[in-house]
Amino acid sequence: MFGEKTSKIFPMTLLADKKTDKTESNEIVLKGIPSSPGMANGRAFVIMPELIIIPNILISVDNVPAEISRLETGLFMMIGEIQSALDKVKGDSQNISAILETNLLILNDEFFLDSIKERIKKGYTAESAVVQEYDEQIKFFKNSKDGILQERSFELEHLKDKLLATIRKKITNHEIPENSIIVAQSITPTDVVHFKELKVIGIITEAGGIASHSSMLARSFGIPAVIGVRDAHNLIQNNFDLIIDGYAGLITISPSDDFINSFKEKKSKEEDRKRELGELIKLNSETEDGIQIKLSANIDSPDDVKEAVLVGCEGIGLVRTENLVMSLKRFPDEEEQYKWYKEIADRAYPNPVVLRAFDIGSDKYLEGLPHIEQNPALGFRGIRFLLHREDIFANQLRAFLRASANKNLKIMLPMISSLNEIEHSKILLEKCKKELSDKNVPYDMKIPLGIMIETPSAALLADKFADAVDFFSIGTNDLTQYTLAVDRTNEFVTELYDTFHPSVLKLIKNVVDSAKWKKIPVSICGELAGHAAATGFLVGIGIDELSVPPGMLLELKKRIRELNYKRAKKKAREIINSNSSAELMKLLEII
Ligand code: PEP
Ligand code: MG
Repeated sequence: MFGEKTSKIFPMTLLADKKTDKTESNEIVLKGIPSSPGMANGRAFVIMPELIIIPNILISVDNVPAEISRLETGLFMMIGEIQSALDKVKGDSQNISAILETNLLILNDEFFLDSIKERIKKGYTAESAVVQEYDEQIKFFKNSKDGILQERSFELEHLKDKLLATIRKKITNHEIPENSIIVAQSITPTDVVHFKELKVIGIITEAGGIASHSSMLARSFGIPAVIGVRDAHNLIQNNFDLIIDGYAGLITISPSDDFINSFKEKKSKEEDRKRELGELIKLNSETEDGIQIKLSANIDSPDDVKEAVLVGCEGIGLVRTENLVMSLKRFPDEEEQYKWYKEIADRAYPNPVVLRAFDIGSDKYLEGLPHIEQNPALGFRGIRFLLHREDIFANQLRAFLRASANKNLKIMLPMISSLNEIEHSKILLEKCKKELSDKNVPYDMKIPLGIMIETPSAALLADKFADAVDFFSIGTNDLTQYTLAVDRTNEFVTELYDTFHPSVLKLIKNVVDSAKWKKIPVSICGELAGHAAATGFLVGIGIDELSVPPGMLLELKKRIRELNYKRAKKKAREIINSNSSAELMKLLEII
């Protein structure tokens, strides 16, 4: 996705009439939006939408026992998960225990279960039968005048989603062979985490924006991806031989021998280039006139620290801890979290690590939580969710603190838009510190607390917020989405998702100036930090630190070492003062 922004992204209008190119052999080339760089050759694994959206699929009588067994296995797994959660909270929280106990009662209700099985016997899949039966009950509760019964409908909605996810997990787990290229209508970030575990080598989707979390995860896992490929799941069948080109956004079906040879050549050049970059590991990250720019890594799990350290990062600038929630498909308890954070802290030691509190919500939803929001990106996300669920937030803060005893951790809050949210979080953090002190548990009493600057309100009020926190990290992905009112996950507005928009650049400059004025460190951890066209501008406005996926770090270091800070500063001033987008693009050398 990075590089020549305008030439690499195919407008959707063009896609409509130039969807495929037939070549002389049997090769067919499909065009899409390049979303994660890299190339791969492998067999297609097509996830039909039926597996994701659950319509009324009819099955033959022969399949009834298998479907009943899928239902029962799903239920068995879910009951086990709830039971073990219940064992952990018993005695701690009466409320949570009561909710979990009610969930178990519903799942174990024989009458309810028989009704679902009856539907399967009538010829529906396990998923369809679950949806039909649950929806009927949900409708009944929703229409009730009794508030408590209405509440019950949300609980059922939650259970339904969770049960479907559990049944589906079993399907995806067992059927995707290693080295597959996934073809799907759309995918969630959780799916991408899952694909990584299954050693998937490429992802093709019909939907999705380039800045969606699914796309970003694919980039950080180094899985080539092409999105916005219309009709992909109709045009590509299981086991088709495919070459995916995540640089150009091209999919070649049944590639000819010539094409395969040229793919191999490109792939080996890609490897050579990576080797060349390796020579930069030991060199400093500084401009040719000696200005140091700290380079950190964005990671998703303890395993990623290894690669980050290998490429010579000076710290971990962003740990997206919500990935732990998404891979477990539930909120982990304090102990599980502590182990995960401690492992990251130890592996990165003595370098600092910024742990971001769960940024749950919007497209990073947890399967099982009801999707009832009309505009989830503008809704119950990040800090808003955390302050509403103080039990979950406090668990995480305690786990952060316990893992901080060696003093190389920092805490960062996501989606901050008001001072209030910072103040409330600080009160809770102090409460958690006191609880640990009372029990003589060691932790870093001066653990730095920072915030993501990713809403226009935070960017505009950065000078005020700087008095309340220890550091800023600019999340350009959301800052772009919220400043331009362009959904980062929506392929129809991908062309409008312009992270170089003058308004976004002005806000970034305002944040950097405010941080400098108040003498707190400021970094960028959004995708812009690694964008080839942005490096000069960001260094020129005086950024202290850039945090990028490990795979991008050395390219970025190479660009920094080729820069002259004084010239970059002068050019950054011209960029900020430029009058038109065209002039700005020219200065950024995008056109
Ligand atoms: C951002 O918004 O730029 C960011 C780094 O956070 P995320 O992409 O996880 O929302
Ligand atoms: Mg963000």
